[in-house]
Amino acid sequence: MKELCSEADMSRMGLIRSLLENQGIETIVERSNELDVPAIPTLTPPRLDPVLYVVNEEDYERAATILQEYFQSEEVNSRTEVTCSFCGAMNPGNFEICWSCGKNVRG
Ligand SMILES: [Zn+2]
Repeated sequence: MKELCSEADMSRMGLIRSLLENQGIETIVERSNELDVPAIPTLTPPRLDPVLYVVNEEDYERAATILQEYFQSEEVNSRTEVTCSFCGAMNPGNFEICWSCGKNVRG
């Protein structure tokens, strides 16, 4: 088992996970144990974000590639703006709900 990434946003984590499992890569998500928080606060905050593990280490490289491609496409999407089909406001490409009128930007 090898740690692939940690992601605070559980819905995003779910997305990443299904992406990998669609490719036949077995994964496990574990929430960091809150008992690990040191009693004395340190400068480095304890990691409480859920961590995604690849179960079979031979899948790790493939998983890392898929993840990298996913992050890249996400970055491209967020750079492409979408015009709301209802009110005409410009929204970042990864927005589904218009920030201005609250409707689905793609109609
Ligand atoms: Zn709108």
